[in-house]
Amino acid sequence: MSATTQTADRSPNNLANNIKGRVITPDDPTYDKERTVFYGGIDKRPSAIVRVSNVEDVRRVIATARDQGYELAVRSGGHSVVGHSTTDGGIVIDLRDMSNIEIDAQARTAWVEPGATAIQVTQALAEHGLVIGFGDSGSVGVGGITLGGGIGFLVRKFGMTIDSLLAAEIVTADGRHLRADTEHHADLFWALRGGGGNFGVVTRLQFRLNEMKQFTGGILILPATPETIAGFAAAALTAPDELSTIGNVMPAPPMPFLPPEVHGRLVIFAMIAFAGDDEAATRAIAPFRSLATPLADMVKPGPYVGMYPPEDPNYRPTAVARTLFVDSIDLSAAKLIFEYLSKSDGMRVAQLRALGGAMARVPADATAYAHRSKPMLVNVAAFYDGEADREVRRAWVTEFAKKLQPNDDSAYVGFLTDDGQARIRGAYPDSTWDRLVKVKSTYDPTNLFRLNQNIRPPGS
Ligand SMILES: Cc1cc2nc3c(=O)[nH]c(=O)nc-3n(C[C@H](O)[C@H](O)[C@H](O)COP(=O)(O)OP(=O)(O)OC[C@H]3O[C@@H](n4cnc5c(N)ncnc54)[C@H](O)[C@@H]3O)c2cc1C
Repeated sequence: MSATTQTADRSPNNLANNIKGRVITPDDPTYDKERTVFYGGIDKRPSAIVRVSNVEDVRRVIATARDQGYELAVRSGGHSVVGHSTTDGGIVIDLRDMSNIEIDAQARTAWVEPGATAIQVTQALAEHGLVIGFGDSGSVGVGGITLGGGIGFLVRKFGMTIDSLLAAEIVTADGRHLRADTEHHADLFWALRGGGGNFGVVTRLQFRLNEMKQFTGGILILPATPETIAGFAAAALTAPDELSTIGNVMPAPPMPFLPPEVHGRLVIFAMIAFAGDDEAATRAIAPFRSLATPLADMVKPGPYVGMYPPEDPNYRPTAVARTLFVDSIDLSAAKLIFEYLSKSDGMRVAQLRALGGAMARVPADATAYAHRSKPMLVNVAAFYDGEADREVRRAWVTEFAKKLQPNDDSAYVGFLTDDGQARIRGAYPDSTWDRLVKVKSTYDPTNLFRLNQNIRPPGS
């Protein structure tokens, strides 16, 4: 049966009886809550959402989807930007209840189930002075962010999330439960580190834990001008590895710590993260503070978990976005950013993330994420209100991104939206792509796992 002929009314046979976790179907009073994902504007109606509780449940749902012809979605944190973790008429393997975190502080390793969130893991590790670098959202699922690569507040110091990954356990389309690491299924282990959810359902991830004794971080808000934008990018690219930054050029939100006259004016809303001692942090952050008189400076020594403030569980943003890499943001690029943001309205952002450091020291062919030498990641995004507005915002985002990066279509897979096949190819250099296709053909030859940035096996 094709995905298009599925309806939420057709229930999978014999599923509920065989599952230890919960099977939620459209008649369940919690169905609407359970089918909701992070982003707004995604309103899919699965035939069943299975909140799996163990590997056997995962295996059973995979067999049901495969043998009864259901489209299969895999959900950990539900943060897919395009709603890949839900389906119309198909089955969702929902891993939220598989969120166990097992820390071996002495060995500095941890086994983490994919339904745990970045903040849950960060909190659990904090009491041991240990850390794994995830992204800038505490509620993102460890499953999704790890398989995409993971670029966040500690990327220059400790690399990507996948650079701390030691092993993964996965159920493949044929129901096998495999361990993938450098010695077992090494091809699969390579592919899992940046190849997304293409190869099966990951049920556990083992990480090497990084020691971080001291941390300084928080929000720094500067007025945005072409000069401060270019200055920010230059400082971010030349900072010591301990310092990772995310600079959001955007209208100032109406936050209570900003004077009312600043609200709506373009600012650099920066997240600053220094993994080291206080004095070194002060030195490293000085170039940013000296770009202009800060409008707010909340960067201070404190626990790393403070980078993940509490989130409103009912927040459902609707946004269009495009991701790209640049070598730098010189004054003319900064002018372009300033002009594009100035001539639009609503909530809109150009997000600048300096890469490099530990991330760039990993050989490009060591993992499926291969754009190791790209110096800077930029995300352009605009929030929209309704379908018609969406297309207006999408056109603005596309034009802006093309102007900023006319020559290079490469991308980070974790930030791709519904950009199309050419951009999925752009996430991987040719040799990486060929290798990924081979791994896909070995472990998922019928493309059962296709609700993702899909690597299609030949003939599927
Ligand atoms: C607000 C926000 C902020 C973000 N910030 C960052 C950031 O700073 N850095 C960064 O690198 N990324 C970031 N991302 C992107 C994010 O890492 C990806 O969207 C990621 O896929 C989300 O993971 P999830 O488990 O929450 O999502 P889900 O929607 O549950 O999963 C997304 C996809 O991942 C695959 N997947 C998830 N779990 C499994 C599993 N256990 N086994 C197999 N496949 C699985 C599936 O294909 C699924 O469709 C951000 C996203 C959002 C919405």
